[in-house]
Amino acid sequence: MNVLVINCGSSSLKYQLLDMSTEEVLAKGLAERIGIEGSVLVHEAPGQEKVKFEQPMKTHKEALNILMAALVDPSHGVIKSLNEISAVGHRTVHGGEAFSASVVVNDAVIKSLEECSELAPLHNPANLIGIRACQELLPTVPMVAVFDTAFHQTLPGEAYMYPLPYEMYTKYKIRKYGFHGTSHKFVSAEAAGLMGKKIENLKLISCHLGNGASLCAIKNGKSIETSMGLTPLAGLEMGTRCGDIDPAIVPFLVSKGYTVQEVDTMMNKQSGVLGVSGISSDFRDVEGAANGGNKRAQLALDIFHYRVRITIGAYVAAMDGVDGIIFTAGLGENSSTSRQAICDHLKFLGIKLDPVANSNRGKAMIISAEDSKTTVMVIPTNEELMIARDTLSLVK
Ligand code: ADP
Repeated sequence: MNVLVINCGSSSLKYQLLDMSTEEVLAKGLAERIGIEGSVLVHEAPGQEKVKFEQPMKTHKEALNILMAALVDPSHGVIKSLNEISAVGHRTVHGGEAFSASVVVNDAVIKSLEECSELAPLHNPANLIGIRACQELLPTVPMVAVFDTAFHQTLPGEAYMYPLPYEMYTKYKIRKYGFHGTSHKFVSAEAAGLMGKKIENLKLISCHLGNGASLCAIKNGKSIETSMGLTPLAGLEMGTRCGDIDPAIVPFLVSKGYTVQEVDTMMNKQSGVLGVSGISSDFRDVEGAANGGNKRAQLALDIFHYRVRITIGAYVAAMDGVDGIIFTAGLGENSSTSRQAICDHLKFLGIKLDPVANSNRGKAMIISAEDSKTTVMVIPTNEELMIARDTLSLVK
């Protein structure tokens, strides 16, 4: 049974076709600059050369048409006909309070997704466009929506409520939702396997450290705290996002003449590692500059490591203990220096890294020393596989 996984951004579309009998990736690709000049789709299948389609793609549907033709192409295709696609799983950013698990898409689900769009104006409309386009092109194939927020619907009230007037919650649904749920769920399940324990008996902290970054406290398999909030702006310092700041800074900047829109752009696109270092939002560039003696680059990294560390400390308090800490996503999987810098100050948890194991990259493994009281792990995330698994289990 083959499952197509679709991840639609406002001008991009990522996809993977997986054979779920083996969980093997048959083909994957990325379309970029949809709706703007210079549209391009790069398609690849294991063991074959990449194929690049440089042609106008005015809509996501046009990009989907190209990718579906690529999947069945006699020379570089991987299936004979689109009938070999049994289901489509859609990465969907915001499910609000309506969805605490993945769902098969029907008209009622679409309506709820439209209602959630207000909470994720950059993401949900694009996700909906992808769902509708796939429904048109594959009218008999079931579609499943898998939400970034769903895993965090188990947060208790004291974790998800903001201490604003209660009406802000009832009127506008202002609360913490959290994101990266698909990734936190996937790596926590893998971590339990690696530790040889049941997830129901574990207290885990998952650190998804990429361009966007969030932490999640997972107690007995359930998310009970996470660092992103109503939107993905909250929590840690990120590539271009500021994370938590004193909210009074917003009206202060407005009083200095910035518009609300400008402050919003500043906090989302010009802050974080980019804003502090003045060099780049990419951790590799910033680590390189810091190694070359650039003080602001070093400060940007210090803030990042410090915030991850104090958030880990908070989550140990939230769970009254911790058995395992997981590093995942671009930086978490690859940067041994960042993992070391974060863990260096967690000695109170009895954490000791094994320097040889920690020098590994991108491989699922335990990186703490044998006598470390808390197990520290690197687990490469695989959101596409998680989406495909959920999709399969719902349409089977
Ligand atoms: P997203 O999916 O949020 O765009 P990723 O999970 O792909 O992000 O992570 C991207 C980040 O990971 C980039 O900032 C990149 O610099 C960082 N990264 C990737 N490889 C390394 C590495 N070897 N050392 C340090 N940082 C790395």
